[in-house]
Amino acid sequence: MRRKRILHKIFPTYLLIILISILGAGGYISISLREFYISKTTKDMEIRALFLMSQLRGNFTLNHRDALDALCKTLGRSTSTRITMILPSGEVLADSYGIPQIMDNHGERPEVKEALAGRTGSSIHYSRILYEDMLYFAAPVIEKGEVIGAIRVAQPMAEINEALNSLYVKIALGGVFTAVLAAIMSLVVSRWISRPIVMMKEGAEHFARGEFGEKLRIPDIEELAGLADMLNQMAQNMDEKIRLVIHERNEREVILSSMQEGLLAVDVKGCILTMNSAMKKMFGIRLSETKGRPLLEVIRNIDLRRFIAQSIKSGKLTEAVIALPGPEERFLQVHGSILRNAEGENMGTLTVLNDITRVRLLENMRKEFIANISHEIKTPITSIKACVETLRDEGGADADTIQRFLDILARQTDRLNNIIDDLLTLSRIEWLEEKSEIKLEEVNICDLLQVCILESKEKSSARKVEVILKCDPGFSAVANPSLLEQAAANLLDNAIKYSKEGGTVIIDVSRESADFIIKVIDNGYGIAREHLSRIFERFYRVDKDRSRQSGGTGLGLAIVKHIAYAHGGTVRADSTPGKGSTFTLRLPISGSA
Ligand code: ADP
Repeated sequence: MRRKRILHKIFPTYLLIILISILGAGGYISISLREFYISKTTKDMEIRALFLMSQLRGNFTLNHRDALDALCKTLGRSTSTRITMILPSGEVLADSYGIPQIMDNHGERPEVKEALAGRTGSSIHYSRILYEDMLYFAAPVIEKGEVIGAIRVAQPMAEINEALNSLYVKIALGGVFTAVLAAIMSLVVSRWISRPIVMMKEGAEHFARGEFGEKLRIPDIEELAGLADMLNQMAQNMDEKIRLVIHERNEREVILSSMQEGLLAVDVKGCILTMNSAMKKMFGIRLSETKGRPLLEVIRNIDLRRFIAQSIKSGKLTEAVIALPGPEERFLQVHGSILRNAEGENMGTLTVLNDITRVRLLENMRKEFIANISHEIKTPITSIKACVETLRDEGGADADTIQRFLDILARQTDRLNNIIDDLLTLSRIEWLEEKSEIKLEEVNICDLLQVCILESKEKSSARKVEVILKCDPGFSAVANPSLLEQAAANLLDNAIKYSKEGGTVIIDVSRESADFIIKVIDNGYGIAREHLSRIFERFYRVDKDRSRQSGGTGLGLAIVKHIAYAHGGTVRADSTPGKGSTFTLRLPISGSA
């Protein structure tokens, strides 16, 4: 249906009512006026008839016909009235216009009939004498209680109509003027009524656009004031609710975006409902808006897609681990649960993803570590067991054999002891590192390194390796002396162990901005490039035989690494196979561990 403005509805209705009222009033006034005019004229005619009657006493007979006719004609001309005198037989006695003798019988004229019956009568009808409509009035002529005739007075309707027409014109003009005035007034009133409604409509449009800042003005029309008040209240409620929803949504988004776990909600059709930033980061999704998009478009990982499809299909809690291929393979633990609405209907699935790469790595490291320890310990224990069994079974062995076996036993128990010592040292350093509890003090680095060199004198002499210290004698730094000594001793021990006979080891101490650097340089076998990144791992050995023969546990460099970390420093190895290696320990001078 075509809509109209309220003004266009009210104003034409008003106009129609006004026009109908004016036409009705005009019509009623016109009819009443005509009736009034005719009754007034009839009254005038009655007076004239009565006056005439008073002049005729005793003369109303055929004998006085000529005199009466002359009287009728004289009076009729002077008053512009037709006067007719009629005998009881209906014969015309005298007439102001016609010749009575030739006029037809008037007894049947309605007004004459009434008058001859003794009453006054009036009527409007066509005159065959004057050829026009006339208003007639007739009264009885009574003598001695008897009706002896009738006097009829007539006036042309044209005169009455003329007078009435000029009045009708005035009434019509008055009606038109009133209609125009009323139309203007109704337009003003219509505007006055519609303005508050239009204002309310404009205000409601603001509300619909979510602009609740400006309230509706309260109109002075009671019903509209109530409506405006209700609309204002409704807008305030809506504003509060929208603010609450926005607040809750922001809160939820903050929670979701600060979650470490990836979160993904998908509806039953496989379209994304929500996805947090951790999830986007995990899968390298750059799209800012993912809501409503099909999962297939956003997630490429087939394992995850399969998992979600399975989760939707099964309608149960599901769990799996999926791998994310890439330069560094990552592992995600995935939990899927069902999303249900208030009616308990299945709306989709919620998937929470945990990056367990580090946990897996640690788990693997732990497993590897245990396997390594077991392996490291098993070798000397097997050897010890074999010696003990041999000694037990061969009771009559000679003293040399027994001595050989006892030497082996001593060596293997030393080895076991070394492994356990190193493991204990490592775990103590790790513990101190974790708790940041290493005790620091001012240490004379040169003195400390001199002690190390002295302690390794036996080994270096045995391998004819010359150890040279390059250090400013007074050089000191803040460090844990026993840990630093242990690190330096391990590096020096390795340098001697993996040097060729007659080789040279240089210990060089220098300073670089806020750090001090201890370099242990040898010209021994060196380390192939592919091993360099792994030699600081526990039990990692490049040459297992050489390491074992020289009593190595495979834990020395791991200990050095953790001592460096515990001081807030680093250690690195550079090497050229066949030419030698350089181990660089870099620690902060002021011991900012
Ligand atoms: P190990 O007790 O076997 O010496 P480390 O942890 O001290 O254990 O060293 C790990 C491995 O790194 C050694 O087995 C050895 O192969 C290699 N390595 C360490 N230092 C040197 C060095 N100065 N020259 C050559 N190889 C070395």
